[in-house]
Amino acid sequence: MKEICSLSLKELKTWMEENGEKAFRAPQLFDWIYMKDAASFEAMTNMSKELRSKLAGQFSFPVIKLLRTLESEDGETIKFLWELPDLKRVESVLIMSDERRTVCISCQVGCPARCAFCASGKEGLLRNLSPAEIVEQVLHINRILKLKGERVSHLVFMGMGEPLENYEAVVKSIDIFHHPEGLNISQRRITVSTVGVVEGIHRLAKEELKVNLALSLHAPNQHIRKKIIPYARKYPLEEILLAMDEYSRNTKRDITYEYTLIAGINDRFQHAEELARLLSGKQCTVNLIPYNPVDDLNLRRPEKEAIEEFRSILEEAGINTTWRYTKGKDIAAACGQLALQKS
Ligand code: SAH
Repeated sequence: MKEICSLSLKELKTWMEENGEKAFRAPQLFDWIYMKDAASFEAMTNMSKELRSKLAGQFSFPVIKLLRTLESEDGETIKFLWELPDLKRVESVLIMSDERRTVCISCQVGCPARCAFCASGKEGLLRNLSPAEIVEQVLHINRILKLKGERVSHLVFMGMGEPLENYEAVVKSIDIFHHPEGLNISQRRITVSTVGVVEGIHRLAKEELKVNLALSLHAPNQHIRKKIIPYARKYPLEEILLAMDEYSRNTKRDITYEYTLIAGINDRFQHAEELARLLSGKQCTVNLIPYNPVDDLNLRRPEKEAIEEFRSILEEAGINTTWRYTKGKDIAAACGQLALQKS
């Protein structure tokens, strides 16, 4: 069976026409799913019984099932564990800070990037998620928030997986997320984070999209980067940065460079100086993420003083920095802590 949430509005219109229905049924269906939170086709009462049963016969909805939620002690972070149709599992994280309701989405089961400091890639890639499996993570969480009169405001592709290695499904899901008749989340509030898949960045730069792009940089040079990020062997830093510049030129978006600080590896003041030189003149922000502990990894987070020194060197060089205050550590929901969950 096909998945209804894998279809863009355009594809739904085509389906309606091919099935002898009026095209306006497509936005109506979109509205039921994304705005009115219908739980099944049966509930879509302004559509004929015949159409509803045809839809139910051809499409599955929903395809992912919520297994459990885990809430951080401060109540600001909730981790959701989902079961997929083949019983594999993925997680998403809802981060609530001030007015923001950010969902951190997974786009693959496992991850092909296998970065040395991250739990998500420990066992490599199991499979890609379909657009519906991506979209429904947000749809379900949005439904839960609506009960409190809130809604999802921001999306980050920073859960498990490498978005640019599941390109079509990710772009399709973005289309549904930002469509005014879909979830209506502005592209300015959607961020795709990549380990640096050069052809994917070029491709994204040519789409008619204007989402934010973040690069997981984590090192001031190719030599250190290669030690901690296996993908760096395939994609040299120089080429990645050129592709990021192209993205920024085409979309007029500032780039975010993510930098996970790991003690003794990339956190020295010389590294900060080198990083400042590497990024000088770019319209960008460096997001410093102190390393979050992952089981079995023999890595450490730098002392607070080292992090502050690193940050001030960048700031003195005129580079914008943010320091990602780590949320959800007590429930293993922080950056890099989403791991494969077995049944
Ligand atoms: N594959 C994409 C999406 C993952 S985003 C990417 O690489 O960008 C998750 C972010 O958290 C990435 O920047 C990742 O490098 C970072 N991260 C991974 N493990 C971490 C850890 N243990 N501590 C802090 N940040 C980590």
